[in-house]
Amino acid sequence: MSALQFPHQFTWENDHKMLPATKVKDRFLAEFGQAPAFIVRAPGRVNLIGEHTDYNDGFVFPMAIDRATWIALRPRGDKRVLAISIDMDDRREFPLDGLPRPAETRWIDYLIGVAWSLQERGYALCGWEGAISGDVPIGSGLSSSAALELAAARAFYCVSDFEWEAPALALACQAAENDWLGVNCGIMDQMISAAGIEERALLIDCRSLETTSAPLPDGMAVVILDTGTRRGLVDSAYNERRAQCEAAARHFGLTALRDIDLASFGRRAHELDELSRKRARHVISENERTLRARDAMNAGDAAALGKLMIESHISLRDDFEVSSAALDAIVACANAEEACYGARMTGAGFGGCAVALVRADAAQGFAERVAANYQAAAGVEPALYVTRASRGAETVYRAAGL
Ligand code: ADP
Ligand code: MG
Repeated sequence: MSALQFPHQFTWENDHKMLPATKVKDRFLAEFGQAPAFIVRAPGRVNLIGEHTDYNDGFVFPMAIDRATWIALRPRGDKRVLAISIDMDDRREFPLDGLPRPAETRWIDYLIGVAWSLQERGYALCGWEGAISGDVPIGSGLSSSAALELAAARAFYCVSDFEWEAPALALACQAAENDWLGVNCGIMDQMISAAGIEERALLIDCRSLETTSAPLPDGMAVVILDTGTRRGLVDSAYNERRAQCEAAARHFGLTALRDIDLASFGRRAHELDELSRKRARHVISENERTLRARDAMNAGDAAALGKLMIESHISLRDDFEVSSAALDAIVACANAEEACYGARMTGAGFGGCAVALVRADAAQGFAERVAANYQAAAGVEPALYVTRASRGAETVYRAAGL
């Protein structure tokens, strides 16, 4: 297997980041007695700014991280998929004709859902068999689910005969998650996992699905700070916020809060009750911050980008009220560090992760100090990940002649 070559010039500085690649190729060899025909990967993601804007037809600004789900595979002639999950220590098989409806949400149902969604959209799929593993932490809000879906879509792409169009594949995977697995999510996770670009973040217009990329400022690392806390409240609070935003848009006669700028809102804000005013002000100001974040990145201005992230956190905490004591504590620990340009909660809130823009040469020390200080303050052990912006779903290896 030492002859296995990775065609791209990977920039992994850290050997452990190759681990899932090695795991899937070794397991494939052990199971099937020969080298895989393909190795694919699809990354997890973190949203840098633009929170609770997606369902208001607004802007989000994620990057794909350098942690991904990998599949080593070969085609099968019988329209069946056999998948081995190394991480779940499980193997499952399903036919592409007559897909079994999920009784519960098992890992294999993500693959079945992707197959269902692609076939619903008219993609003609062939079968494959292979081994899957990843290093996106599962259930931490870094979207291991989208990484698995896009890796599966990429596996089907390798053995079938269709064009890889990132937005179309992202939509198909989102539909798998929404309609097959019954999980409510916007388009961001699948779109960034499909279309991520190395060293760049992707501004996504959640109305038109148009994307534009911007470079992360030179010499900066993005550090993900997992508070180690999760809240059950998220669903009901999410639905409530969503209804409040829709009501505010309706009041102004708009399709969505995306359609009003901060100045116009300022002139009419007094028409709303205080709670609706705060909710709307977050969404409208967050959309503006997200567009200004793009300008800051294009200008290479890390300080301006960091400041927008800090403002975003304050708005999410005070106006949208979706932060938590743990999130506020870890963001405060991050912002107290000299190497940090700005930190904010990321994701739906009430727990989960924050994200910080940090000088790359100081990122490791930053992570160690923030972890220690947060643990001392909050009494919970966090997980910190120093990350780089990576490429979206891709075929990393293709055997000669295929
Ligand atoms: P996240 O925030 O990580 O997306 P989700 O609950 O949405 O959390 O998705 C996690 C689920 O996705 C897991 O329970 C599992 O079913 C599936 N999954 C993710 N990564 C893997 C993997 N590497 N191998 C097998 N299943 C995975
Ligand atoms: Mg998920």
